[in-house]
Amino acid sequence: MTKSYEEIPLTPISDTPSTINLTGYWRVMRPVVDKSKCKKCTICWKFCPDGVIKLVDGEPVIDLQYCKGCGVCSFECPAKCIIMVKEGDL
Ligand code: SF4
Ligand code: SF4
Repeated sequence: MTKSYEEIPLTPISDTPSTINLTGYWRVMRPVVDKSKCKKCTICWKFCPDGVIKLVDGEPVIDLQYCKGCGVCSFECPAKCIIMVKEGDL
């Protein structure tokens, strides 16, 4: 049954914009790029569902304030140069 806006509890809804609510801090795993192996193919940049990868001179730079550690970039990287590490391990 579809609920009206008024019937949906406030609890699961964030009233804080992402500019303040830095969602990367929820992360458990963190991507680490081995730039010596990067082929500058841009695939990680294209696939990141959060759009948190910028390309600087063709190399990926990940904004860890917003990266959620989903691992899509690591999975898709053809050079296998993005590894996922547990937060606090590196
Ligand atoms: S781990 Fe996920 S959110 Fe973080 S940079 Fe990779 S694809 Fe983007
Ligand atoms: S997908 Fe891998 S090889 Fe391609 S730009 Fe990203 S890190 Fe570099």
